Amino acid sequence: MKILVVEDSPTLRHATSTYIRKAGHEPIIATCGEEALQVVDGNPVDMIIMDVEMPGLDGFETTRLIREWLGDHWIPIIFVTAHSHEDSLLKGIEAGGDDYLIKPVSSVILTAKIGAMERIVTMRDQLHEANKELKRLSEKDGLTNLYNRRTFDTRARDYWKMATRTQEPVAILVLDVDHFKLYNDEYGHQAGDECLRLIATALRHCLNRPGDIVARYGGEEFIALLPNTPEKGAMHVAEHIRKTIEALHIKHRASKSSDRVTVSIGVSLSAFTTGTSLSNQIQLADKALYKSKRAGRNRVTLHNYAPNTSVLVVDDDATSLAVISKVLKGHCALVSTQNGEDCLRLAREIQPDVILLDVYLPGVNGYEICQLLKDDDITADIPVILISVCEEEELHHFGRQVKANACLQKPLDRHLLVAKIRQYLLPASTK
Ligand code: GH3
Ligand code: MG
Ligand code: MG
Ligand code: MG
Repeated sequence: MKILVVEDSPTLRHATSTYIRKAGHEPIIATCGEEALQVVDGNPVDMIIMDVEMPGLDGFETTRLIREWLGDHWIPIIFVTAHSHEDSLLKGIEAGGDDYLIKPVSSVILTAKIGAMERIVTMRDQLHEANKELKRLSEKDGLTNLYNRRTFDTRARDYWKMATRTQEPVAILVLDVDHFKLYNDEYGHQAGDECLRLIATALRHCLNRPGDIVARYGGEEFIALLPNTPEKGAMHVAEHIRKTIEALHIKHRASKSSDRVTVSIGVSLSAFTTGTSLSNQIQLADKALYKSKRAGRNRVTLHNYAPNTSVLVVDDDATSLAVISKVLKGHCALVSTQNGEDCLRLAREIQPDVILLDVYLPGVNGYEICQLLKDDDITADIPVILISVCEEEELHHFGRQVKANACLQKPLDRHLLVAKIRQYLLPASTK
């Protein structure tokens, strides 16, 4: 062990260091409290023998600061003092000391105390290791050594929160072994277990990007979250997994769809503009998986967006239209017009979930249109977001007068636009 000796008396420093060396440990010297803090800051020590009476920082104060610095990491600290009063001992223990020796300290006593403390340190290390192992085991599935469902749920939820903020695409893959009941019936449960292990290994190889979260989700079902992965990438990975497992050539005589073990996969992608929740996203992947099953198994299906939300855009500016359609593509039905009368008619007919309304349109004034929409019982409740190049203050002032729900300045900022649209498209429960 590395034992730090904090002692201002050169004679005692020398004596204590000699005892420590004789006991088979390495002494490190500090001549005052301040120096002790520097040592602890720079290199890890396993134990400290601390003089109480020192000029400057005394032993108690130094100990308090060291405990603060070390936080949860406990190391034994033994005080050495000329005082034997009980209240001094109490003060020492309160300051964070573990034992208290009265000077002069004999070699035998010091060696015995070091030995006792060393045992505690060893126990602390073993406990720490055991806890680490326990945590590892509780996160994993015993059969496949992939994450278990609980760990997936926690990690995926944390990731989802972040991705929602950064608006990056997230893919979910759900995978189920085809005719696995028949496999168990034919080859036995142990062979079934072995098969699941082989599939897990294949999954680990196919999903090896940092950040990929892959888990055994239930019996013969696996799940993966792929961060920052758009449609093309997600489909590529899913197809690669399917082919890899097919290429394992695990014989399956009883299968009704192949001569070997295959998997069906469902893929879904995040649609943050419509504010999908993680659980909804998993459900969509599950639906796609079911489609893969019905279509004959051993295949990948992407959940196809059947948008149940729509946005009406009233704008003649190509740049804004491009930003808007890029943001909304695949997430909701987009209807656009440049014409004010069309806007009023379409708003009544299709009852969009949000209207994005430009203020300056050829021959029309967006404020007036907004006022008309809000005065009409049929369209009054549809949220209207006014967009305009004009000054922010002016836009908000007139916007309020015509009861617009929100205003955005051009050029449109993609993030702000998504945030505003989310506000109106998101079901209250997932906000
Ligand atoms: P499908 O192609 O429609 O998915 O058919 P299937 O037989 O795979 O589906 P089903 O859900 O009916 O059966 C799943 C089977 O997976 C039931 C059970 O025997 C088996 N299974 C689930 N967990 C384990 C496991 O841990 N080990 C083994 N050996 N088999 C398992
Ligand atoms: Mg002293
Ligand atoms: Mg299943
Ligand atoms: Mg199955």
